[in-house]
This record gives sequence, structure tokens and C-alpha cells, in this order.
Amino acid sequence: MKASSIPTTQIAAVIKNPGPDGTVHITNTHPVETPGKNQVLVKLAFSGICGSEVRALLGWSNYKPVVGHEGVGTVVQAGQDVPDSILGQRVGVKWLHSACGQCSHCKASSAHHCATPVFTGLHVQGTLQQYVVADARYLTKIPDGLPGEVAAPLLCAGLTMAGAIAELDRQQIPSNGWVVISGSGGGLGHIGVQMASRLRAYKVIAVDSGTSKRDLSLRCGAEAFIDFETENVEKRVKAITGEGAHACLIVSGSESAFELAPRLVRNAALLAVIGLPPATFNFPLAASALASKALTVTGVMVGSEQQMVDLLQHALAGVIDPVVQVEEFSQVPQVFEKLENNQVTGRIVVKIPE
Ligand SMILES: [Zn+2]
Ligand SMILES: [Zn+2]
Repeated sequence: MKASSIPTTQIAAVIKNPGPDGTVHITNTHPVETPGKNQVLVKLAFSGICGSEVRALLGWSNYKPVVGHEGVGTVVQAGQDVPDSILGQRVGVKWLHSACGQCSHCKASSAHHCATPVFTGLHVQGTLQQYVVADARYLTKIPDGLPGEVAAPLLCAGLTMAGAIAELDRQQIPSNGWVVISGSGGGLGHIGVQMASRLRAYKVIAVDSGTSKRDLSLRCGAEAFIDFETENVEKRVKAITGEGAHACLIVSGSESAFELAPRLVRNAALLAVIGLPPATFNFPLAASALASKALTVTGVMVGSEQQMVDLLQHALAGVIDPVVQVEEFSQVPQVFEKLENNQVTGRIVVKIPE
């Protein structure tokens, strides 16, 4: 794409008045930025909308007006020090926009744990616009043959669950072990059910509420589904597992899921807090319970680039198959409303206007 054919303004979904009265507006006058050193301009085709974006709308952190961090598009302009060979490549724009390259984690090839990361939508403008500036060093190449709308939710929801699966590996949860996934029917949860059951052969107990989330969880490979609104979750998990589960991954938008988790697991189990829970949530756990049950508590916000590459290959092979509802860009404000009310089953991806 010639520089002369890149517009100076574009269509974008912009958050106004972040806070209790925050709203999302579609505008066609948002400026297109110019890529700087190590950066490229990506013309987007699809963007997933992550549940964590509700944090931006509610003003829980000082986000940029344009959020979104599950973008799939094509590189149309290269900034300083970026080889022209990147032009025309189909890439994924993720939550991690860039990392410092200098801290202990960056030096250990774990840029996703960087001490001073730059996040898409939080520190720089996100993917709910036609053109986004991204750092070429932290982009992900999207494999040929994988539809953009399928790749999009893998860039945050899928990658975060890949990070969670790595924690199960690190804790050496036995294959065939019981894994509770709390919030199993949402954007992250349903991909987590697929990964835990299809890639690791764990027996997944899915916890969520309502018929559509039940159906999705079971379709994704869960052995059992427990509706937290109508059933006693603790009793049912104990009935199914005997001693309790080997691990509990908490992806839920409900604070009671965090209170309940320690009671769902056996001794020497793993409790993992996944994604970015609402800022007001706590993870209440008595020190004595932590010690006497020999529990491990961990947190996962995102995964590594190698996990990203592996996950896209699993998706290309059809083993991981995110359930996506594609909406027009004009629907972005309504999608935020649904996410705020926990009404999204699977993931909503929006088409970016041409
Ligand atoms: Zn996200
Ligand atoms: Zn770093």
C-alpha cells in the first residue's frame, strides 16, 4: 500500500467518559498514526473484544480511548529499522505491544513477564480501529489458511489459556487429572476447556451458568457441567472427584468463584487466577488453609510467544476451534454492554470496515 493511499483519518470505536457513565462511540474522524522506529502500520480486518476491555469503559485504569487487543490484519507501512519484507504479511496484534528487552524476563525470552511492558489499548491505541500502529518485534505471523476471525480470539483469550495450561504442566498435574474451569462458557473459558481436554487429556469439570454456556462447555470437551446458580458446586465437585479436583482455573466474572475455589480442590492442588478480574475482586484464602492443604496459587495474564505460535498451529489443525460470533463494527457499543453484563457465550469478533 502506497503511503499516499493511507488515509489520515479513519473509523474507530472510541470510549468516552470512562467511569460509571462511560460510553462507546463509533467515529470516522479518528487520526491514523504513523509508525516510528521498529513499528509498522497494520490495516485491520478483524478484532476480538476481550472481556477485560470493560475495565477501560468503567475507568478502572487509564486506558487509551481506542482499546482492543485481538487484531488481525495486514502490514501496510513499515517504520524506521523495519525491513520492507514485512509489508503485506498477515499478522496478529496482541495485548503485549512491546517489552523493554532489558529486564530479567526479557533476557530469559519471557517478554510477556516484562517489568515495564507496553500494552495495546492501555498504553497505546488498540485494535478497534481500521489502522493500528504495532511494534514489529512483538507481532505474531498468522498462518496461511487460518481465517482471521478464528485467529483473533486466540491472540488474547487463547494465549492466556495457553499460559494457564503451562502452569498445569509446571505443577505436574497428572494426565487424566481433574481440572475445574470456573467461567467455562466465556471467551477464555471455552478455549481453556478445549485445550485442557484435547491437548492434555485432563478431565474438565466446567462451571458456569445457563443453557448456552452449558452446551458450549460440554461441546468443547468438558466431562461434567455444574451450573453455579442452581447447583451446589462444592458438593458436586466432591461427588465427581472424591477428594476434590487437582486444579482449579478461575476465569470467572463472579467474585464468589474466587471464594469457592479453595474448597473445590484436593491437597497439593493448583489454584490459578486467569485473565484480568475486576479491580474490586479479592482472592480470600486463610493462611492456615493454604498451608494445611499445601496449595499452590498462581496468576496468569497472558502467555509466551512460543505458546502463541503453538496455539495457532493447533487451530490450523482444527484441534482448537474457538467459537466465534462475527458482528458488524457498528455493534461494538452493544458488545461492550453484553460483556459488562456477562452475556457473551464464546467470543464476539467484529469485522473492521474496509
Ligand atoms: Zn484480553
Ligand atoms: Zn522487559
